[in-house]
Amino acid sequence: MDVLFHAVSGTLLVSALGEKRRGHLLAAALISALPDLAWGVSHLVPDGPIPYRVAHSFLLSGAVLLLLVPINWRLYFGLLLHLLVDLPLHKHTVLYRMLGIEGVDWYRGWGVPIAVALWAVLAALLALRLRKWLPAVRK
Ligand SMILES: [Zn+2]
Repeated sequence: MDVLFHAVSGTLLVSALGEKRRGHLLAAALISALPDLAWGVSHLVPDGPIPYRVAHSFLLSGAVLLLLVPINWRLYFGLLLHLLVDLPLHKHTVLYRMLGIEGVDWYRGWGVPIAVALWAVLAALLALRLRKWLPAVRK
């Protein structure tokens, strides 16, 4: 899925896990989008890009988990959600190789209606969450 989807969904998940501090929720947005951001930014580096597979690996995710546990363990779950969402929505993943099927990409073919449905669910969850947040902000 796209970077914005990962940032918003990860932040909602971290919030649902009980994190309410604004700075930590902003960190959750960045960490949730980290694999895509790292992969994208690496294209600007002269020595070449980080392979997509490495940026989205559970090994790198585990390293981030080790860094986050002493700071705020909840922040990791946005990153984990990113990997779990991307796994079935990119054609060339380990999942599809293991199943021996071609799979789908979220940005073309049958992946597009799946991505639209996921965005609709996310928008509904965000609307429900904002109904809870806004009265607290007004006080
Ligand atoms: Zn991704």
